[in-house]
Amino acid sequence: MTPVLSVRNLSRSFGAIRAVDDVSFDLAPGELLALIGPNGAGKSTCFNMLMGQLRPSAGKVLLKGQEITGMRPRRIWRMGVGRTFQITATYASMTVVENVQMALISHYRRIYAPLPYATRLYRDEAMDLLETVGMEDQADRHCAVLAYGDLKRLELATALAHDPFLLLMDEPTAGMAPRERIGLMQLTADILNSKGISVLFTEHDMDVVFAHAHRVMVLNRGQLIANGPVEEIRADPRVQEVYLGGGTVFAAQAAGAHDA
Ligand code: ADP
Ligand code: MG
Repeated sequence: MTPVLSVRNLSRSFGAIRAVDDVSFDLAPGELLALIGPNGAGKSTCFNMLMGQLRPSAGKVLLKGQEITGMRPRRIWRMGVGRTFQITATYASMTVVENVQMALISHYRRIYAPLPYATRLYRDEAMDLLETVGMEDQADRHCAVLAYGDLKRLELATALAHDPFLLLMDEPTAGMAPRERIGLMQLTADILNSKGISVLFTEHDMDVVFAHAHRVMVLNRGQLIANGPVEEIRADPRVQEVYLGGGTVFAAQAAGAHDA
């Protein structure tokens, strides 16, 4: 089967720093793939190249076999690649359901719909998406008053409004309490599995990674040093050396230390 995403010899330098150095991997349909690594490893740089925010110095990115290297973010998004951000992006002045409606309007390109009409546009579909993430009872609340975990679920609903086949999630559980993280990731994994959406995510919390990823890749100083099933990664001595540093990094991350 053609991989959903293929990355070949992807590199990006900033001056003398090789932020991403000859990275190659495939993402299979329906796979939940985690990209982990210490601070400064190159995770965000890699992500930004996949979404078209940053030009690679070398290498290729293919989406279902079609090269997308150097394409603009909007175009890649139109091809069915969704993204969620470390800093949650919602319109605070709008209600929960309006945020999802906006995402649907954008997806169907009805941006010129007159406003009174827009308030009803795709409301039923938006409510279905809110039900999917368990937020239908909060539909008419303003985003400004939502708890952080609810904002994260809303962000997931707006990403789903675009009907992506691939979702790139940059630290989906950043800033959440440990129990909340597991809950959000469980919900996310269930929805994505049931819809057959493939996912590449970066994540700090190793409990989340080991509980939900199908496969884990480890980036260190721009290079992929390991790529395999969860159990293999957990036992890999190179990973333990780079990543666990005798266990202290693990502990710090579980406590919620932050990525840059
Ligand atoms: P991670 O997300 O794994 O923490 P990053 O991709 O943010 O790592 O950074 C990888 C390396 O590239 C770091 O050394 C960082 O300082 C450097 N870097 C990232 N973005 C830029 C930039 N825009 N200009 C210069 N250096 C950068
Ligand atoms: Mg980062």
